[in-house]
Amino acid sequence: GKKLVWFRQDLRVRDNPALHEAANEGEVVAVFIEAQEQRKQHHESAAKVGFIFDTLLELRSELNELGIPLHIKTCATFTDQISALQQCIKEYDADSIYFNREYPVNEMERDKELVERLKKEEIAVHQYDGDLALEPSLVKNKQGEPYKVFTPYKKAWIEIHKHSPIEPLSSPHKQTSNIHNQVTEDFSQEYRHDLWQAGEVAAHERLNQFLDGVDQYKDQRDIPAVAGTSFLSPYLAMGSISAKQCIHALLEHYDGDEQKLYGNTWFSEIVWREFYRQILIDNPQIAKHKAFNTSAKEVWVNNKEAFEAWKEGRTGFPIIDAAMRQLNQTGWMHNRLRMNAAMFLNKLCLVDWRLGEKYFMEKLIDGDFASNNGGWQWCSSTGADGAPYFRIMSPLSQSKRFDPKGDFIRKLVPELEGLDNKSIHEPSVEQRKKVGYPEPVIDYKSARKRALELLS
Ligand code: FAD
Repeated sequence: GKKLVWFRQDLRVRDNPALHEAANEGEVVAVFIEAQEQRKQHHESAAKVGFIFDTLLELRSELNELGIPLHIKTCATFTDQISALQQCIKEYDADSIYFNREYPVNEMERDKELVERLKKEEIAVHQYDGDLALEPSLVKNKQGEPYKVFTPYKKAWIEIHKHSPIEPLSSPHKQTSNIHNQVTEDFSQEYRHDLWQAGEVAAHERLNQFLDGVDQYKDQRDIPAVAGTSFLSPYLAMGSISAKQCIHALLEHYDGDEQKLYGNTWFSEIVWREFYRQILIDNPQIAKHKAFNTSAKEVWVNNKEAFEAWKEGRTGFPIIDAAMRQLNQTGWMHNRLRMNAAMFLNKLCLVDWRLGEKYFMEKLIDGDFASNNGGWQWCSSTGADGAPYFRIMSPLSQSKRFDPKGDFIRKLVPELEGLDNKSIHEPSVEQRKKVGYPEPVIDYKSARKRALELLS
């Protein structure tokens, strides 16, 4: 019988354990099944869905070159996905199924259900870990317990890496099969094609280009007006590149010098990605709208007016509005601004972080449950190793510090274009009136004072 490879968030041919192993065992047929209703329930954005669809077309051409067909199907829910897979097994005459694990709760429950059903039909199920660079079961403290704080987690991560270096898998070997009648159920959606080129090849090009200038990352990563980060997040989110490949490429860039790798800031960010995934695996309750730290104060009053203004980028705080418009227009937001936008909504406007988390998911092309939830809970001080409750970023001082000349604001909030470098951060009442830019939706000083009182 054939080997059915079920693609999910691992849309690549290289460094794909499930695909690699299946191809070692026999003739492979690959399938992707988009659960459209489920995707909506998880609030994932149209941009992300569209980018996934185009990534699949790229993946298909890579797979076809290896002699492997890829069927692209759609259904409604995760339950339907299971039935669709059972159907595929019959239709393609498969005797086993291969996939890489996904860690959010509904995905894990679905996979468990699938395993039980296929057991009855005597179909072998092979599951692998391909999403994290280090297998999630490895990074534990001396007592065998999961870490809750980033720095010791990273230290332990590095220790493991020192003893078992990472070797990404190559492409699977070619097979000789006739490719015909590949199913394509179109679920394409609009996104910014001009900014995001789908697929594994594009992802590696981006990585290589970024690595050429990686030594500037540390100094440039916080300046939103500069393209100082890798922009790899959408590719990592749908797995057209793996964390392993990123770390391995960085180590190669340093000619195998591990000390340089471990001291690199970008490496640390990839480890943050691993950390938040590990937190999710060990604390599945966070996928059910629970705070990681259940004793953290939750005092949200859900200021509706501020929430609407925030979503639309008209809070009257130029840096926050620039950030939200970047999100709405491109599907991506700079990390420095994600923190600012999140703390503004949550701590200064006292809107529940869960609402902000959901809105981000609805817009982000790189929307990823573990990283998004981790980021929001960090900002709201409810999370694993979150910011202390009294840390509230001031939009004005952050704006002056990280966008000193207002270049970023000018680009995203064009009505403020004509303002000088100083007043662009905080236009006067007259300046606002003149260009039709709104008054601040909250009074910063009193909002900060109120938050500190309520959260302490
Ligand atoms: P780079 O700076 O080049 O970093 C490389 C990679 O490391 C990123 O692609 C990402 O995979 C990982 N990474 C970097 N920073 C973080 C971080 N703080 N936490 C976890 N992983 C990180 N990232 C997402 O991928 N999806 C999300 O839905 C998401 N939501 C966020 C929400 C909030 C409130 C905050 C504060 C952060 C969020 N992040 C999220 C993390 C981070 O902002 C983005 O990963 C980053 O901006 C993506 O740009 P880049 O690829 O150029 O990053």
